[in-house]
Amino acid sequence: MYGWAGRILYVDLTKGRIREKETPKGLREAFIGGRGINAKLLWDLTRPGVDPLSPENVLIFGAGTLTGTPVPMTGRLTVTTKSPQTNLYLKSVSGGHFAGELKFAGYDHVVVYGRAEKPLYLWIEDDHAELRSADHLWGMDVKETNRTIKSDHKDREIKTVCIGPAGENLVKYASVMNTVYNVSARGGVGAVMGSKRLKAIAVKGSGTVEVKNPERLMEVSMKIVERLSAFSPDWCTTDLVDFINRARLLPSLNFRSGFLEDGHKIGYRHLKEAGYVKGKWGCFSCIVGCHLHSVIKEGPYTRHTVGPEYETAFALGSNTGVTDPEALIRANELCALYGLDTISTGSAISWAMECYERGVISKSDTGGLELKFGNAEAMLEAIRMIAFRRGWLGNLLAEGVKRASERLGRGSWKWAMCNSKGMEHAGLDLRTW
Ligand code: SF4
Repeated sequence: MYGWAGRILYVDLTKGRIREKETPKGLREAFIGGRGINAKLLWDLTRPGVDPLSPENVLIFGAGTLTGTPVPMTGRLTVTTKSPQTNLYLKSVSGGHFAGELKFAGYDHVVVYGRAEKPLYLWIEDDHAELRSADHLWGMDVKETNRTIKSDHKDREIKTVCIGPAGENLVKYASVMNTVYNVSARGGVGAVMGSKRLKAIAVKGSGTVEVKNPERLMEVSMKIVERLSAFSPDWCTTDLVDFINRARLLPSLNFRSGFLEDGHKIGYRHLKEAGYVKGKWGCFSCIVGCHLHSVIKEGPYTRHTVGPEYETAFALGSNTGVTDPEALIRANELCALYGLDTISTGSAISWAMECYERGVISKSDTGGLELKFGNAEAMLEAIRMIAFRRGWLGNLLAEGVKRASERLGRGSWKWAMCNSKGMEHAGLDLRTW
């Protein structure tokens, strides 16, 4: 069997049982790879009407067919489930290094179902897979979780997917973090993982992915590398901010406008010129390396971290009216540590800011926060409140814009335009087209 590792791991958290099965040939031929096979497994394993946060929902992690080979940019992981945000089919994709490691351990997919009585994590080391107690990990942020798992196993090369406090607290748009800074962000995959009390999957593999004609594959890979070399070393999604702002497509102030006067301040050029960009790094088998290594050298937000990406710059930046790069970098970091989707988090906060400015909610609702557009400190505090469902506001915003506006009433649906079927929009103001 070439390309595929050839096995699927089935993990029943209710019974604490793990089985492995061969990836059926028919499945491989008809559905090819990560997202295709994941979708078919979800279709087969869930019944109509299943509650996304119930033990009956399944959560599927799938690596791509080329993942683990030298073909550039193929280290993708697809996480598939029924979404607690939309109640529909959901796939949420990330890069990082987990998917490659999963295949090196000998698995194409991991299918998780049921609900554990107590927090657990799944440990996979080549042919060995076991469920371990995650009592000591529950409550930790994503960085601490990673550090602790690596230290428990005395191995810094372990790759993980895990949830942060947002997933544990069933925030409807909690994400699954892929070895800290890559993320399957959308639709609430992290809430489904939290509902199953599965804190993490940690994997270590020592195998390889067999291909039929390694020489030919290498030849093709080198051609792709040659073409990718044409990418500017500065290429990153945050570099789109300026252009999109000038094109009047940058959602700003809860989608009131597609342009923000100071929008360029959260774009890559400005971040670089102002000394916030220390370097760039990439996912498994990628030579482009589009992720920013950011640094804030002094002040209250001093740190080394990653990002932001374009979608974060729009959602937590222009859409909340915050154009302070340091606050944006800090907001991105908080979402990564708590395991929150930055698009939905920013959209929920910008909707709340609109409600606040229009007098629909007041300081007594926000716990004293002056939730005005452009207030960076209020935006950062709102992120913390959401992740821990703290206070009336945190609990409300943790439901996402659509549900929050339905719950709040008071005509607030009029400003909840930035969602479709319950999921907040990605960052383009489509009215400009
Ligand atoms: S580093 Fe960027 S370009 Fe490369 S695979 Fe990851 S997401 Fe894609």
